Amino acid sequence: MYDIIVIGGGPAGLTTAIYALRAKKKVLLIERYSPGGQVAQTGKIENYPGFKSIDGMELASLMFDQALSLGLETVFSDVLDYELLGKIKKVKTYDGEFEGKTIVLAIGAVARQLDVENEKKFIGRGVSYCATCDGNFFKDKEVAVVGGGNTSFEDCLYLSDIVKKIYLIHRRDEFRGDRHTLEKLYKLERDDKIEFVLNSTIKELNGDTKLESIVVENKMDKTTREIKVDGLFVAIGRRPDTTLLQEKISIDENGYIITDENMQTNIDGVYAVGDVRKKRLRQIVTACSDGAIASVDIIDYISKNF
Ligand code: NAP
Repeated sequence: MYDIIVIGGGPAGLTTAIYALRAKKKVLLIERYSPGGQVAQTGKIENYPGFKSIDGMELASLMFDQALSLGLETVFSDVLDYELLGKIKKVKTYDGEFEGKTIVLAIGAVARQLDVENEKKFIGRGVSYCATCDGNFFKDKEVAVVGGGNTSFEDCLYLSDIVKKIYLIHRRDEFRGDRHTLEKLYKLERDDKIEFVLNSTIKELNGDTKLESIVVENKMDKTTREIKVDGLFVAIGRRPDTTLLQEKISIDENGYIITDENMQTNIDGVYAVGDVRKKRLRQIVTACSDGAIASVDIIDYISKNF
């Protein structure tokens, strides 16, 4: 029996674990892949206090190592089902069933798809949702990145050291991402490393067995242009993957879990932290903050109820 079962090993889940372990709680982390979540897939992080610039994978490893050194137990497996209503919570995975006094849902969010024809066909054959995972397959090639937020900016910066040229395709002429990072992209534009394709949407993905070109349409004058690329990195935001929790817990119309200010969901002993939670700002620092707050409330909850 665990005091806390944390589902998801990103900064929110790991911070929950670190705070609880330091309070001598028994904590199990269940993670589908490797720990770190989206952070581990981020190139450079420049807005996490204490680090002027740090590689995402390195920051994720530091957090994970810290939790392990405090006694974190781990299971790397997919969750199949949750039993949340009883006093003892149960999590069923491919590797068995686990019981806890509390559950922390730190399951993050998954990449949004463009929903253009052939997108699924070319996944792994040119279409990618993770530049740091797949960028190296496109050494000295021409690629496109679609999106206008910080992820698209980070992807461009990461890819600029690997590929020959990047087309950044954005549906508006103003970006959502940080001005500071945008300045770095303008520098790459001056070096002909990046070309901005603004007010444009992707209409077609073409190729035989792999992606060979994309067709973009300018929304202002309705002209179309074919751009030959070997890769397309889709960075148009993320959505929570709360399918297993539908009907079990309070979720908003976009699939985000609703909590109170202590990260408590509508079910006693069940908490949600990080990007899966309904909130305004999704950053590493706010994910960590959620984890710390949840942990303190959980420690109170356990002492009152067990
Ligand atoms: P985001 O900020 O939501 O940006 C998504 C972008 O994709 C927007 O520019 C949006 O265009 C565009 N878009 C959405 N749907 C589209 C579609 N169907 N077709 C074409 N374009 C579409 O998502 P994100 O960049 O993944 O960032 C998510 C959060 O993580 C943000 O809070 C971000 O600041 C944070 N983040 C931070 C860092 C960092 O600080 N180092 C790094 C990465 C991410 P519109 O602008 O027109 O809506």
